[in-house]
Amino acid sequence: MTANRLRLGISRCLLGEQVRYDGGHKRDRFLTDVLGHYVEWVPVCPEVEAGLSTPREAMRLVGDPEKPQLITIKSARNLTKPVALFAERKLEALEQSDLSGYIFKKDSPSCGIERVRVFNQQGMPSRTGVGLFARAFTERFPLVPIEDEGRLCDPVLRDNFIERVFCYHRWQALARSPLTRKAVVLFHTAHKYLLLAHSGDCYQALGRLVAQAHRYRPTELVERYGTLFMKALAVKTTRRKQVNVLQHLVGHLKERLKSRERAELDSVIRDYHQGLVPLIVPVTLVRHYVALYEIDYVRDQVYLNPHPKELMLRNYV
Ligand code: SF4
Repeated sequence: MTANRLRLGISRCLLGEQVRYDGGHKRDRFLTDVLGHYVEWVPVCPEVEAGLSTPREAMRLVGDPEKPQLITIKSARNLTKPVALFAERKLEALEQSDLSGYIFKKDSPSCGIERVRVFNQQGMPSRTGVGLFARAFTERFPLVPIEDEGRLCDPVLRDNFIERVFCYHRWQALARSPLTRKAVVLFHTAHKYLLLAHSGDCYQALGRLVAQAHRYRPTELVERYGTLFMKALAVKTTRRKQVNVLQHLVGHLKERLKSRERAELDSVIRDYHQGLVPLIVPVTLVRHYVALYEIDYVRDQVYLNPHPKELMLRNYV
């Protein structure tokens, strides 16, 4: 972890603030009571902060899904401009906030990140839209991990999102520090097995980039590395990929493990492969032997500790 506190943007209503059109909120207990201990929230309500009142008339997206208008349902007031102007100002300000991720409210015509209802001129909806503010955010900050609170109920998506958030935070720290080739190599080495759990191809492409670091200006190197790094982590991991990584890790231990220990480790990895135990079980056992036999190279792998253990994310995947 870096010294800077990890900051996440969040739709304000998810924190329990009564900013919704109906005067209510959508407090999410996992976010406020669990994740909130590890991050500093940067709450935003695009509608209220654009000057709309609470409560207010409900609104929806209308027209071209790629460039919809934000229209109130009863009085047909067009609110696209005030929200777009607010987004422009706010995103400028958020540049300074160094966000490592953003959690949006699902389905909202301002905050939804996918499958938001867009109505055509005949009043027929299709779930093809993106909220106005969410769209402007991702265009401005394409690498920042985003999710909505609905998708975060899925343990696999939750683990992946929070892993990406912590990785992005470490990468931001690297990009801020005086950049040396050695620092990039160390960063890449520490993330080796985490990257392999997502995409072997991206891991190799990143390795080639690091090996040719001298060809790039530091800012260009950071940009290229960051883009590919975040792309790799967004690739879905699978049990098979995780088993492959675990077997690589066992490979580093095999000279030291007694045959009984090796058999136990193999059996636990098999159990994980068959879905009998969650990922935390083989990872904890590997971590134990890595500490016991002081295998420094593996001990420093982010794969073994990608996010705070108290979040218990690997207990459910
Ligand atoms: S979904 Fe977005 S715009 Fe709507 S109340 Fe929540 S923060 Fe405000």
